[in-house]
Amino acid sequence: MDYMKYLPIFINLKFKKVLVFGGGMIAYRKIKLLLQCHANIHIISKKLCKKLFLYMYNKKVIWISMNYFKKYLKNVCLVVIATNNNNYNNRIYKLINNNKILINTVDNEKLCSFIFPSIVNRDPILIAVSSKGKSPVLTRIIREKIEILIPYNFGNIALLSGKFRKIIKFYSSNLSERRFFWESVFDSSFINEILHNNFKNAIQILYSYMINNVKRDGEVVLVGAGPGDSELLTIKGLQTLQRADIVLYDYLISRNILQLIRKDAKLLCVGKRFGLNSITQNEINELLIKFAKQGYRVVRLKGGDSFIFGRGVEELIAVKKAGIKFKIIPGITSAVGISASIGVPLTYRKYSSSVLFLTANLYKNSNINNSIIYSKNAETLVFYMCKTKIQDILKSVLSKGFFLNTPIVLVGFGTLLYQKVLFGQLKEIVFLSKKLSNPILLIIGKVVNLHKKLSWLN
Ligand code: SAH
Repeated sequence: MDYMKYLPIFINLKFKKVLVFGGGMIAYRKIKLLLQCHANIHIISKKLCKKLFLYMYNKKVIWISMNYFKKYLKNVCLVVIATNNNNYNNRIYKLINNNKILINTVDNEKLCSFIFPSIVNRDPILIAVSSKGKSPVLTRIIREKIEILIPYNFGNIALLSGKFRKIIKFYSSNLSERRFFWESVFDSSFINEILHNNFKNAIQILYSYMINNVKRDGEVVLVGAGPGDSELLTIKGLQTLQRADIVLYDYLISRNILQLIRKDAKLLCVGKRFGLNSITQNEINELLIKFAKQGYRVVRLKGGDSFIFGRGVEELIAVKKAGIKFKIIPGITSAVGISASIGVPLTYRKYSSSVLFLTANLYKNSNINNSIIYSKNAETLVFYMCKTKIQDILKSVLSKGFFLNTPIVLVGFGTLLYQKVLFGQLKEIVFLSKKLSNPILLIIGKVVNLHKKLSWLN
């Protein structure tokens, strides 16, 4: 996992002692926030601004108008250093930093062991945004976007649900069943009714789900993850990943996509590259069926589109035979993702009116020329799984009338940050292919030349 530096947690500061250095407006802004949490605030400062003076007068804070003494640190939970004097802030930080106490120095990330996030408050829903102190303006912009996205009374949904949580627990002791219950409720018009303040209707909906005892049937969802770039995942695919109980994924799935999966979901790599050589197609089918029968939402996550050169079909046939519900969510196949990424359209009126997606795995032996299906009328060829079959492909396409100077492109790890793109001509194919490691996609045809006009990535 990536290093996080800060763990976002929500701290209960009620009655806890918080020491704040500074009596001006900078300190005031932090104190105002801390007071909302009912913290027991002690201010150390020679002077107090008007607003803080009022707090002191109303006994909301304690003011210590003296120099700092070590004894003030006793039982302190948090320290906020918030004066407008950097040298003073530095000095105080050095004096009190013992790596045990949590300290925030306003506007100085180096002198912080915790930072204040930007907050969207829809009590009891709290959303905190942070850029590790790198760009407060950016976090503010993100916060504003979230503010717009989440209606001001959104918290009522959590409040009302919270009231029913115990009853629902009483009805069902099974955690996964309860989660399914709530997901079904939130999928209904329950949320909408609350947002329109129709609480009676909302409660009615809850009861109807309880009475009808919504039970969860397991299911398998085949999701195409796209070629690698996580932003090329479909919205439906993303939503499915965020609801999954178990995800069986292939080795082609990029880390960025795996990070989008619901954090509590169980992840199983069934790809050959992760030392699980022994797992057979039958075993994968059996796992899918077993988990779905246990009532789980099982996602089978495959690279690109599951129906293009994948075993998704076999898996679904087995799942269906076992009487299990399934869904199919398409993905962007690597040919299409890569075509966009490198600015090579797969068809173009002047050069090519058709495109063939081929798997080089068809070449079971070297005597392949007759079994191959394309003809030179299909002017763009895209080869999947081609790394070990380059010689065979070369022989085959030459025999079908392609010229040695036909433009080609080989792309490794397409659409990912470390995508490698090698342009050339058919005669250079063997040499070029040796420079790349799997996964590789090969495009052959005049359209390849269009990258000179359409390439857009730097
Ligand atoms: N269902 C997938 C293809 C699976 S076959 C899809 O629709 O894309 C695996 C082959 O796909 C690889 O050998 C390679 O040829 C191609 N491939 C998949 N992802 C790729 C990527 N990011 N870059 C280059 N080739 C890729």
